[in-house]
Amino acid sequence: MTNNDKYKIILSKLGITPKTVNGHTAQCPVKSHNDAKNSLSVCLDNDNRILLKCHAGYPIERPLA
Ligand SMILES: [Zn+2]
Repeated sequence: MTNNDKYKIILSKLGITPKTVNGHTAQCPVKSHNDAKNSLSVCLDNDNRILLKCHAGYPIERPLA
């Protein structure tokens, strides 16, 4: 499975993920965070690596897929 495939799976698990310039945003899956707006960014970088970043500062300890 390529990272491109994994990326699509992650997007489908996150649900509605509006597209941004660099990738997509989604509600943060960290339960304790209780995300009210989309503070998680997901993107594929130029080396085809999947990047997850929570802008509220909650660490994403492992990929969702
Ligand atoms: Zn978060």
